[in-house]
Amino acid sequence: MKGIILIKYGELTTKKDNRKYFINLLCNNIEEKLKSFDVVITKEHSRMYVQYDKTFEKDIIRELKTTFGIHAFSIVYRVETDTDLICKEVLKKFKEEKFKTFKVETKRRDKTFEIFSIDFNKIVASYILKNSSDIYVDVHNPEAYINIEINKDYTYFYFNEIKGLGGYPVSVQGKGLLMLSGGIDSPVAGYLALKRGVKIEAIYFEALPHTSLDAREKVITLAKKLSNYSGGIKLHIVPITKLQEEIYQKIDGSYMITILRRMMYRISEKIARKNKNLILINGESIGQVASQTLTSMNVINEVVDIPVIRPVACFDKLEIIDIAKRIDTYETSILPYEDCCTIFVPKHPVINPHKEKCEEFEKLIDYEKLISDAIDNTITINVNNEEEFSGLL
Ligand code: ATP
Ligand code: MG
Repeated sequence: MKGIILIKYGELTTKKDNRKYFINLLCNNIEEKLKSFDVVITKEHSRMYVQYDKTFEKDIIRELKTTFGIHAFSIVYRVETDTDLICKEVLKKFKEEKFKTFKVETKRRDKTFEIFSIDFNKIVASYILKNSSDIYVDVHNPEAYINIEINKDYTYFYFNEIKGLGGYPVSVQGKGLLMLSGGIDSPVAGYLALKRGVKIEAIYFEALPHTSLDAREKVITLAKKLSNYSGGIKLHIVPITKLQEEIYQKIDGSYMITILRRMMYRISEKIARKNKNLILINGESIGQVASQTLTSMNVINEVVDIPVIRPVACFDKLEIIDIAKRIDTYETSILPYEDCCTIFVPKHPVINPHKEKCEEFEKLIDYEKLISDAIDNTITINVNNEEEFSGLL
């Protein structure tokens, strides 16, 4: 049996000049997500219709709920534009859904239709009341809105809407490189960037054998979870064992983390430029730890020219955790594997580091060479392709 879903774009429709581009992109993204379900998509100015096979209804709804750019969607019913027929069908479906209270909201998209919306509401409501015994009108808090859209040939009606994620279609903004640790914050940062239409690649720094393959697997799982919202994600796994050991041996404990993070930024910028990523994205949050004070951010950020976006910079940890739970990354993030930032942790990391001191310390290691070795030994995988990473774990 076939069904129809009506998709509304919301915020997209306000972007006048780019609207066509946005809608085409959204349509492509939806097509890609629904490609295994044999659907037919029809685009209109402010909406899309997806014709689908009812067997796949649950899967399709799940996919649409994780697609950015969709404001809301509904399962709709289609009837010929004929008042008697509309009343009959609405009542039939309404009873099937077992709703008890309703309010009718009609939109006359075909302005030549002879009955005004407000009168049509009354016609449908009285028909329902006349032909049922336990269904009532409730204009303030109905169990179901009966939305009726009258077009020239066909009329669509649907009950309540399912809320979409909003935001912009992924890819509308080009690519950004997400610094993805195994923690709670960075997957949320990635999700928020995706929401604004940024396509993401991810970069993960590891220091085998001080960090484990379990930690790597955790990051792959997180990237996969993010890819539910974005299509395939490329993950760059960068080995920084030597770099980190040099820092540990030669640099004053209080500056170790600051210097390590300056190195991570330098490597991220190089990998971003090589892969045409226009920004870096990370999960830093103001004041969360010593390396995230405003002074630290200055000293760390100054080693790169590329813009760095910190979507969770002003969120409290609890707010970040709420989002992590909602997007299903939290349970993975709290698995207890060591990250390279948590090994060799100094007792008293500097809170207000000085740029000049960093530069002095950095002279003690041949970091250009260590960085270029790390980049040369980077492994890049597509996390949605099981074959590509099966040998890595
Ligand atoms: P998260 O911030 O993801 O919860 P965390 O709190 O352990 O993890 P921080 O030490 O707060 O990480 O680091 C701040 C940010 O730096 C992270 O959100 C992430 O964007 C980046 N980062 C830290 N460690 C790594 C790593 N091993 N690989 C890639 N990025 C990292
Ligand atoms: Mg953090």
